[in-house]
Amino acid sequence: MSYAMPRVRPSSNGTMVDGFGRRIEYLRISVTDKCNLRCVYCMPEDGLPWLRRSEILTYEEIAEIVRVMADMGLRRLRLTGGEPLARKDLPRLVDLLAAVPGIEDIALSTNAVLLAPVAKRLRDAGVSRVNISLDSLCADRADAIARRPGTLARVMEGLDAAHAVGFDPIKINVVLMRGHNDDEVPDFAELSRDRPLHVRFIEVMPTESNLELSATNFLSCDEALSRVAVVDALEPVPGPAGNGPATYFSFPGAQGTIGVITPMSHNFCSRCNRMRLTADGQLRPCLFGTIQTPLRDALRHGEALEPLINETLRIKPEKHLLVQGSAEGSGGLIALSQTGG
Ligand code: SAM
Ligand code: SF4
Repeated sequence: MSYAMPRVRPSSNGTMVDGFGRRIEYLRISVTDKCNLRCVYCMPEDGLPWLRRSEILTYEEIAEIVRVMADMGLRRLRLTGGEPLARKDLPRLVDLLAAVPGIEDIALSTNAVLLAPVAKRLRDAGVSRVNISLDSLCADRADAIARRPGTLARVMEGLDAAHAVGFDPIKINVVLMRGHNDDEVPDFAELSRDRPLHVRFIEVMPTESNLELSATNFLSCDEALSRVAVVDALEPVPGPAGNGPATYFSFPGAQGTIGVITPMSHNFCSRCNRMRLTADGQLRPCLFGTIQTPLRDALRHGEALEPLINETLRIKPEKHLLVQGSAEGSGGLIALSQTGG
């Protein structure tokens, strides 16, 4: 397998366009590789070899990279991890990012276990919307999938807090796993009927630590949708505000929507609008693969970042090369938590 060659010369001048003509204005920032959960599809039970503190970008360094990229055309940010709320005083980073000229939107991806006490502070600092990961509505199962007791109760507290402080939209991310949560697909979909909740089903992607699960327990979004359509008719809808690759549907008259994210069954890379910054300052043009540009040391040595960012834009791959049951396409990733998912 090999990547296609870029066809378009990337431009900057306040607009970032990659070698395939895609406009890039969205950056997913992983603020930590650590997490308080160990979701079975994401992280090994014993964790990973964690980054050292000195290897991790400071909040000021993250803000400086965002400042340079905002001058080049970056407009929207998402804070992710690992678990972003596991890093101390995340609202302080939001304060810094919200002050960067050109940044229009800051979102958060979280497991919500630690959200309730900081939800208001995050909202006040400038986070407008949240994606919350939740893979089962049954307490025993949610705890087993997260490999941590008490998970469901705390996620629900986080979800209530998210509503109370006015994050909008609120999306629930559900990773589909046959035998773990496939029978709950209609129940998750029902959450969108009477509440302004946007439930998104995600096909599990293979990384080195989940090869068996991602092959044996794979459930496609087509199959998940067919289970929902048995309950009630679904109609295609535009979907809530966001930057993502999801395709949306809704029950007639529902307040929320049902989204599907299909990295395995229906490739959506031609619509890609993003790059990623890892906790240790690697700028990654794709979630998967081996291409990344180390920005941290250049920043610490006072070197210009723009040429490095432009070069990363130029070599952004046309698409991911994931193959079920194989670690090859993920480019040596052990877990998605290493790049922010
Ligand atoms: N800890 C936060 C959370 O869980 O939302 C943010 C980081 S997590 C890596 C970001 C997203 O990636 C979550 O929605 C998670 O469910 C998803 N994810 C992690 N590993 C995955 C995999 N192998 N396949 C599909 N989605 C995955
Ligand atoms: Fe942690 Fe999120 Fe990965 Fe679960 S999906 S282990 S919450 S980083």
